[in-house]
Amino acid sequence: MLGKPLNLFVFELLFEQEFNRYVYVALFDDRVCPECERWANTPFTLAQAKDTFPYLEVTDFGLYPHIHQNCRCIMLPVVE
Ligand SMILES: [Zn+2]
Ligand SMILES: [Zn+2]
Repeated sequence: MLGKPLNLFVFELLFEQEFNRYVYVALFDDRVCPECERWANTPFTLAQAKDTFPYLEVTDFGLYPHIHQNCRCIMLPVVE
């Protein structure tokens, strides 16, 4: 975790403990993208999501994988 701001690191740790799993929710409209569709309903841990999606954006609402430009998919926390 070198090179990361400490507060971000702490936030991620807390986040990971609270919600240990995310499920991929593809937003389908009239043009379904196969790239996004293939991940639909797939469960991920935060670490797996980071490994899989290099442009992953972590927010307190969910994760945005940003698979491609204008990707509107979101990964929502699953509370177990
Ligand atoms: Zn797509
Ligand atoms: Zn997408």
